Amino acid sequence: MIIKLILSLLVLIISYFIIKSAKNYIDKMFSSENEKKLNEMVRCSVCNTFVHESIVVKKSGKEYCSTECSNL
Ligand SMILES: [Zn+2]
Repeated sequence: MIIKLILSLLVLIISYFIIKSAKNYIDKMFSSENEKKLNEMVRCSVCNTFVHESIVVKKSGKEYCSTECSNL
């Protein structure tokens, strides 16, 4: 009887830790992906200025801070 009680308690504790670590893992996965998308800075090939990837100008495989740099 005691062994059964301890076993069920153990299962409860183990499943609690599994759920907790799984939740942590999922949170980490999503947050790091969001951060990566939000904070990606790209260096301009011409003037070496760091620009946010949402405003970066891409031309023939290179990245530029502005259309002025891409036309040089
Ligand atoms: Zn530039």
